[in-house]
Amino acid sequence: MEKVYGVIGCPIAHSMSPEMHNDLFDFYQLQSRYHAFHIEPEKLSDAIKGFKAIGVSGFNVTVPHKIAILDLLDEVEAVALNIGAVNTVVNEEGRLVGYNTDGQGYIHSIKQKMNQSLEQSRVLLIGAGGAARAIYITLASIGVLNVDIVNRTKEKAVELIGSCQYKNSSTALTIKEVEQALGQYDLIINTTSIGMHPHVEESPISLENLSENTVVSDIIYNPLKTKLLKDAEQKGATIDNGIGMFVNQGALAFEKWTGIFPDTTRMETVVKKKLGG
Ligand code: NAP
Repeated sequence: MEKVYGVIGCPIAHSMSPEMHNDLFDFYQLQSRYHAFHIEPEKLSDAIKGFKAIGVSGFNVTVPHKIAILDLLDEVEAVALNIGAVNTVVNEEGRLVGYNTDGQGYIHSIKQKMNQSLEQSRVLLIGAGGAARAIYITLASIGVLNVDIVNRTKEKAVELIGSCQYKNSSTALTIKEVEQALGQYDLIINTTSIGMHPHVEESPISLENLSENTVVSDIIYNPLKTKLLKDAEQKGATIDNGIGMFVNQGALAFEKWTGIFPDTTRMETVVKKKLGG
């Protein structure tokens, strides 16, 4: 019998996940389909009961359900619990188990761009929202200790560091402080929405003091090259856009469902086509 997978969100019509996963199911000749399910927040509990009743094999979770879903699952893995958000659910013999592959997806992707050990690197995280939380806690969980955070609302950065259950030596800084000390970072990650379409002329920080040895990464993928990345490229730094994180969080979810770690180059091609080339 065909297995059913999907993504739940509100809105969900523009999700790229159905095309990405259905292409993989076809490529690996698996009798499975992946659907987008629009679920209003007040219907979430009923929807999850329904998924369980009809035996949905697994699903992704996106805005605004990533936090609310925690209380509706049978089990949540430790890192996802510390992040406080789930983006992937696996039906394990009738029990719904929640994971967070966003942070791991990011790490999987960025490791391919770094020419030094991530664990030894000095990292600057810009932002302290949902995506920053997933990346920060996952980095700490694998032993990346030196991660400073700069956020418009500094208290949120302080709160994020304080809530991390893994060892770290992080400091919450102001924009002025990080702009002056930019040269000390091996990796800079923008997790804010600054620079996202249509505000493509905006950048979260000035890169005047950037070293060309720094990798600058932006998890935004619309546009593929944000102003931050253009500025970093001009300084001779290595750049990395948000496609890698998106594709790898999906690849890790696919692996949890099927046991196959899929061809991420193939996934990237599907996503780039969907984004308009
Ligand atoms: P979120 O929880 O709403 O967090 C937004 C962050 O951006 C906060 O740190 C917020 O600062 C900051 N911010 C927003 N507008 C700002 C402004 N005008 N000036 C300064 N700071 C501002 O959002 P999220 O879910 O983390 O998503 C953030 C970005 O990541 C989005 O662009 C999203 O598309 C992208 N994303 C990409 C992937 C991927 O797979 N590549 C996955 C998830 C998200 P305050 O705390 O001060 O409000």
